[in-house]
Amino acid sequence: MANGEAKMAEARVIDGKAIAERLRAGVAAATRDLVARTGRKPGLAVVLVGEDPASQVYVRNKGRQTTEAGMASFEHRLPATASEAELLRVVADLNARADVHGILVQLPLPKHIDARKVIEAIDPAKDVDGFHPINAGRLSAGEAALVPCTPLGCVILARTVHPCLAGLEAVVIGRSNIVGKPVAQLLLAEDCTVTIAHSRTRDLPAVVRRADLVIAAVGRPEMVRGGWIKPGATVVDVGINRVTGADGKGRLVGDVAYAEAARVAGAITPVPGGVGPMTIACLLRNTLEAAGRQMDVEVALPGLSA
Ligand code: NDP
Repeated sequence: MANGEAKMAEARVIDGKAIAERLRAGVAAATRDLVARTGRKPGLAVVLVGEDPASQVYVRNKGRQTTEAGMASFEHRLPATASEAELLRVVADLNARADVHGILVQLPLPKHIDARKVIEAIDPAKDVDGFHPINAGRLSAGEAALVPCTPLGCVILARTVHPCLAGLEAVVIGRSNIVGKPVAQLLLAEDCTVTIAHSRTRDLPAVVRRADLVIAAVGRPEMVRGGWIKPGATVVDVGINRVTGADGKGRLVGDVAYAEAARVAGAITPVPGGVGPMTIACLLRNTLEAAGRQMDVEVALPGLSA
């Protein structure tokens, strides 16, 4: 798209809800095929400690979508008072079970439990969140790995705009282990030229203005302004921030000032309805991938065709 045109036109909206639905349908089809060939269902176990309301909603949604994809869903609920040793025993049992191919321990965990220790106790082959250091290391070494779900979702969304990402200037704002670093690694593997920006980056607007692809994962409401965006660029907004509007009502906004950015960008994800719906869809994709490897069966993974 010519720069002038991009400035005039409103950006294409990247419909994460529809793309996630297609991805889940693809996972369900590949799962049916796997079950037909092996007689075994992929199984995902989710472990929830405590009663955090947001986590409970999330875990319920995961369970429903896992079953809808034709997979077996297992839920393990422990009280907030459960000890680290109890949780580690649950993880060890799940590691040993042949009908469980993916294990996800819902974060955050209560303060008396060391999340790092729990993540490291998960069998890397079943680590469908992709947070185990073995998977993080494999990803950065360019080896086959289970990769974190939200970053994978970002790349799948970007690929709907640019089927080939090679050569694009990508700027990732944020360097967390959960989003920023893995999304940067995935984009590097896609042959982007990647810059990772963070709170110590000098002149962030100028850095972002270089980008053909911006991934914002900061956790600061509407921090990225329209004037920072290169005309025609693709913007993927990972941020989920609850703010109170002038009417006193709560609403969700991203890390990007959407209305401003949409006037300049070529394509942009909304919040909500952009990256958010991709996370569970990618979790199911990871579970299918993990199950295929554990059953030693080739599966056609949807969402990232070459
Ligand atoms: P973290 O708080 O772990 O990381 C935030 C990153 O942003 C840090 O690297 C930090 O830099 C950087 N940062 C903070 N302030 C600035 C600034 N002023 N300028 C530039 N960089 C800055 O957050 P997460 O990565 O866990 O999450 C980011 C956002 O994504 C949140 O809104 C979260 O809710 C959302 N999220 C959404 C998910 C989804 O499913 N859609 C899943 C996971 C997260 P430094 O390292 O220097 O401190």
